Amino acid sequence: MITKVAIVTGAARGIGAATARRLAEDGMAVAVLDLDEAAGGGTVKEIADAGGRAIAVGADVSNAGQVADAVERVAAELGAPTVLVNNAGVIRDNLLFKMTEDDWDTVLGVHLRGAFLMSRAAQRYMVERRWGRIVTLSSSSALGNRGQANYSAAKAGMQGLTKTLAIELGPFGITANAVAPGFIVTDMTAATAARVGMSFEDFQAAAASQIPVRRVGQPADVANTISFLVSEGASFVSGQVIYVAGGPLS
Ligand code: NAP
Repeated sequence: MITKVAIVTGAARGIGAATARRLAEDGMAVAVLDLDEAAGGGTVKEIADAGGRAIAVGADVSNAGQVADAVERVAAELGAPTVLVNNAGVIRDNLLFKMTEDDWDTVLGVHLRGAFLMSRAAQRYMVERRWGRIVTLSSSSALGNRGQANYSAAKAGMQGLTKTLAIELGPFGITANAVAPGFIVTDMTAATAARVGMSFEDFQAAAASQIPVRRVGQPADVANTISFLVSEGASFVSGQVIYVAGGPLS
């Protein structure tokens, strides 16, 4: 069987790193794409140490030229990328009246423009092969969240993008889905705890008390869901938003 090639953006750490490791365990060759190529080295080493194949690729997903070069490089070094996980992300939280245009543009640029540019660059390889999987990280914040006008707008936009990709690319054997995590333990939620002046431990405990399964999520919870969505068996699941949040959201 031909080894599938996956690109995971923002895979130097957090959810992206866990997803890259999981897809490598599933037998895929993985491009660990992050802003800084060197930062992806840790994930690449973990994959290689476990017997998998991975390369680190540096690119800013909001930069069209860098995205085009990165996707071409993956195709040349690993093979045609037919799995794409749009995971790279940043937060610039602030209440609306204090939110700067730069806060808005940066967050919309990385999440929404980034997912658009990466999907546009990668779909060519998927269409050629009549097979592909695109998974885009949305968030429970898409439903609205105080202090996150930029982030929730981007994450809601990514749901619309996903549904449209599912419609346009479905005839070519390509599915597109969004995974919308709730609280996941990463540097991103640690930064939010710091912003609101709580220890990360207390912040997690407070969040867990509001979640039906009474725990916060781990990166592996999201990686497991993505593993299913990019699998052969998920070929009839497309255009969906799956909340990975320990309880119902919609
Ligand atoms: P994280 O730990 O902050 O990791 C994000 C990664 O994305 C970092 O390695 C970062 O690189 C990279 N990145 C940022 N801007 C980039 C760009 N322009 N181009 C390429 N890479 C870039 O975040 P996470 O918590 O794992 O979140 C991963 C995704 O899940 C994000 O889309 C996030 O919005 C979403 N999500 C997270 C949670 C949660 O609770 N953690 C909940 C819902 C949704 P640098 O280190 O160089 O900045």
